[in-house]
Amino acid sequence: MKKLSEEVLSRRTFAIISHPDAGKTTLTEKLLLFGGAIRDAGTVKGKKTGKFATSDWMEIEKQRGISVTSSVMQFDYDGFRINILDTPGHQDFSEDTYRTLTAVDSAVMIIDSAKGIEEQTLKLFKVCRMRGIPIFTFINKLDREGKTPLELLAELEEVLGIESYPMNWPIGMGKQFLGIYDRHHNRIEQFRVEESEKFISLNSDGEIEGTHPLKEDSLYEQTLEEIMLLNEAGNAFSEERVSEGELTPVFFGSALTNFGVQTFLESYLEFAPVPQARNSTSGKIDPLSEDFSGFIFKIQANMNPAHRDRIAFLRICSGKFERGMNVTLSRTGKQIKLAQSTQFMADDRSTVEEAVAGDIIGLYDPGSYQIGDTIVSGKEAFEYERLPLFTPELFVRVTAKNVMKQKHFHKGIQQLVQEGAIQLFKTVKTEEYLLGAVGQLQFEVFEHRMRNEYNVEVLMERQGSKIARWIENDKINENLSNSRSLLVHDRYERKVFLFENDFALRWFQEKNPDIQLYNPMD
Ligand code: GDP
Repeated sequence: MKKLSEEVLSRRTFAIISHPDAGKTTLTEKLLLFGGAIRDAGTVKGKKTGKFATSDWMEIEKQRGISVTSSVMQFDYDGFRINILDTPGHQDFSEDTYRTLTAVDSAVMIIDSAKGIEEQTLKLFKVCRMRGIPIFTFINKLDREGKTPLELLAELEEVLGIESYPMNWPIGMGKQFLGIYDRHHNRIEQFRVEESEKFISLNSDGEIEGTHPLKEDSLYEQTLEEIMLLNEAGNAFSEERVSEGELTPVFFGSALTNFGVQTFLESYLEFAPVPQARNSTSGKIDPLSEDFSGFIFKIQANMNPAHRDRIAFLRICSGKFERGMNVTLSRTGKQIKLAQSTQFMADDRSTVEEAVAGDIIGLYDPGSYQIGDTIVSGKEAFEYERLPLFTPELFVRVTAKNVMKQKHFHKGIQQLVQEGAIQLFKTVKTEEYLLGAVGQLQFEVFEHRMRNEYNVEVLMERQGSKIARWIENDKINENLSNSRSLLVHDRYERKVFLFENDFALRWFQEKNPDIQLYNPMD
């Protein structure tokens, strides 16, 4: 093995954020192909296998081939070791999806050029923003008609509020897509031409020297005009602002035809951050430190339904992991030997012997870990910053089917809530239990685990989506609580209003201007 610092500095760990169908799977496959991690496209996951029963989460996992193996993918390219973390969409959307973003050093945002910014992209973007994660944008499907590039940049600015710097610029689109004008490499990359003709280098004025058929095309002229506009009126490139998440480098391409992907990958690697130092109770922890440490950001039930084992996903934040090493779980002070560990690859899951800061490993979890736990190998048992709270949007009222099972019911809920699988609220007046989640799957997982791990059947009554707002002032008139603005306590006994909709929220604010409401995700 190379020196630890060299190893750590070669790591690039990111998540792809996008709305379903923007092309995340397609782009991931192309990236893995470059890295030689897979041989054929189509192996990332067996998705779109049709409908699935919503009741049995294990079955869902099996049928769709979703597994821990596709949650993290690792490949090598040009001396870098790249970890891609999946952020599931659709029904799989959950707090885990958000928490995954706490384990990366940067994010790649894919936008469908015809659709622009979509709902799920916006949600994930906000979490990246909140954490100051650098974001690289890939605008996909240029082989199809879409919005104009200027419209798309305006959307980035207006909808997301982030400034952008186009690293390249499309020459035409759809049927007339000729390629990209690569500002960063001062060259043109042509679409659908012989490999030998693919790149045209440009002179110091950023134009094609001499004669070339492309120069006859009016789209070339138009592109030069747009590039001039960008140079004069666009944002300046600033590596520092990129690293602070204030400026996003934008790339255009077509993942399906594998166009612009390699250029994107190479530019991304040039500017993407190395594993970052993280805040802890002992200050910032240097990723190059010899002492091993990391935190758990996700816990997933094992594929094997015969066992209750789970896999805890650990982001290594410093030092080197070696199989069999002894560590301390900071929360409890307990010693643990890390004998069973898993590394994630595109094709298979394999046992990992060594991994370093920046990498993600899976730890066998007999029930010892909670989401947010820190483990360390050094003498000092510090803890990494608490994972942020994500505002739930969906709610159910929950009770035990069998009243004789109250004890198990409470124990199960307490543990699953502590583990971070679901959020718990209690209505202020009637002390009823409400569960909150960001995605429906969390309720299904909860129900499944209550049945299988705590032997309790639960009744869940849908409350639909609500807008949760925490309250600054502690003293509050409990009579303000009603069905449209329900007052509840969260698990830390903080007061929260659950509003039926936007209208109810606004109405409440107008009537009660003294009550400060806040959303922890803003
Ligand atoms: P995901 O849901 O974000 O993972 O999206 P997929 O990668 O599964 O892509 C959704 C659909 O868009 C699939 O039918 C892809 O073949 C298609 N697609 C992805 N990239 C492109 C592209 O660059 N051009 C075109 N025309 N279609 C694409």
